[in-house]
Amino acid sequence: MRFDGKRALVTGAGKGIGRDLVKQLVELGADTIALSRTKEDLESLKNECPSVSVIHCDLSVANELESAVKSCGRIDLLVNNAAVALLEPFLEISSQHFDKSFDVNVKAPLLVSQIVSQGMVERGTGGNIVNVSSQASMRAIDNHTVYCMTKAALDQLTRNMAKELGQHNIRVNAVNPTVVNTAMGKIGWSDPAKADPMKAKIPLGKFAEVDDVISVILFLLSDQSSMISGSCIPVDGGTLAC
Ligand code: NDP
Repeated sequence: MRFDGKRALVTGAGKGIGRDLVKQLVELGADTIALSRTKEDLESLKNECPSVSVIHCDLSVANELESAVKSCGRIDLLVNNAAVALLEPFLEISSQHFDKSFDVNVKAPLLVSQIVSQGMVERGTGGNIVNVSSQASMRAIDNHTVYCMTKAALDQLTRNMAKELGQHNIRVNAVNPTVVNTAMGKIGWSDPAKADPMKAKIPLGKFAEVDDVISVILFLLSDQSSMISGSCIPVDGGTLAC
């Protein structure tokens, strides 16, 4: 699998899945742009991987998003990976957390994809978009109501984009991981009292590794998946089958 000659944009590339994905895309030949919110993360990524271009942007600020993504120029491969997990019980959900969650997890992927796919349509070269969703889009999880809602919206966005953009040879898919051991994974699942019952629901009996998710994203970005579009692919050790 190689991405030579392709330009890739990964959002939320400062930490976790996005950061490692950027490194793998560079190794596989893609000219890669890493967009994220914390400058120090981008500086350390640039030190580790000097050929990466970095863009500092808070995707919850619409005008910042627009100028950052427009400044990227041509993009062939887009991974909408940035998200927040603001957990609270249903009875305590705040309007502020609701808005922030939908701004970052739903509105930002839509706006970034609009700008990027507009360029793909104008150039007539096609392209490829992967949205990083979650198994939470399809399951109710305690304290995750708003997060689950945002990921369900992202799955539907994936299907609608695939439907309208297919005619321009743009494929759009999602990956839906179970818990992954990253900073975000630790927010909800570092306490064994919560993690153990969750693991017990996974037929393979373990959480996902970052590389388990990245390998599926790379497959979806590659020509090896050239007939797959509009799919939301679980990376969940079998959870959603149960
Ligand atoms: P991390 O929290 O480790 O990393 C998320 C990255 O997104 C960070 O670099 C963060 O930057 C960035 N980000 C968040 N908000 C913004 C924003 N407003 N603007 C720009 N960048 C932003 O998360 P993961 O790597 O674990 O998650 C990646 C994706 O995988 C997410 O979409 C998540 O929902 C999904 N996922 C994760 C699972 C898990 O258990 N970890 C399970 C299933 C799905 P900063 O830290 O500076 O805010």
